[in-house]
Amino acid sequence: MKSDFHCHTKWCDGRAGVEEMALAAIEKGFCKLGFSSHSMLPSDMLDWALTVAKAPRYAADVREVAESYKNKIEISLGVEADFLPGVATCDRKVYSDISPDYIIGSVHFVASPTGANVIVDMSPENLKEGVEQNYDGDFSLFVKDYFRQERLMVETCDFDIIGHADLVRKFNSNSIFFDESDAWYKGELEATADAIATSNKIVEVNTGAIYRGYLQDAYPSAFFRSLLRARGVSFILSSDAHCPQAIGYAFNQFEDQETYLGHFRR
Ligand SMILES: [Zn+2]
Ligand SMILES: [Zn+2]
Repeated sequence: MKSDFHCHTKWCDGRAGVEEMALAAIEKGFCKLGFSSHSMLPSDMLDWALTVAKAPRYAADVREVAESYKNKIEISLGVEADFLPGVATCDRKVYSDISPDYIIGSVHFVASPTGANVIVDMSPENLKEGVEQNYDGDFSLFVKDYFRQERLMVETCDFDIIGHADLVRKFNSNSIFFDESDAWYKGELEATADAIATSNKIVEVNTGAIYRGYLQDAYPSAFFRSLLRARGVSFILSSDAHCPQAIGYAFNQFEDQETYLGHFRR
């Protein structure tokens, strides 16, 4: 049973509308599709993310398409909510207006010691500059802050799915910024896997960076997945699709080797 609970539309930074994405998922044989618009509620930090004002219209759009195609696919309303202390939270209480079926909690901005927020996934150049300006160029400090923030999210927020749990790898192919085999890095993964296992939250195996050509492995990495699996954590496969073509991308690389829930439901 094919499902994908992470996709974006024109309601945020996606390229297609809700109906177009739903039709593509049906065409690809998916039984379940979840929409997860980026949201920074209640702040308006990004101009393309859902705001308090836009959220009810987004929810109505998804619910309407869900009703129209309910005989062909089960569509869920979700959000991909940022966690940035003091600015944005992925806690369910913030989303009571739209009652989402599920919430993905993600860290895209790291609160640095200088007070500036470093964007994790915009571009290699932007990231390098952010780490130079706010961490004196020390990537290990930045990466440790990223995972510390993710653990705080996992430990303090009521949500369902952890989005791209090691997004810091996005621009790190060939270890250009840090070495993922270093003891300090593995230690961060172990501490984070412990926090996730204790929280009983679900981890998505996200193929978005494969579709975009940044990485050959999903988030989390094979090593991180092994730590999570050893702790009994449940996974779902997701594509983080921003266009119809990306729905379910590269799922066949992971379906056979992992035990995925695939039937996530609230
Ligand atoms: Zn994301
Ligand atoms: Zn996303």
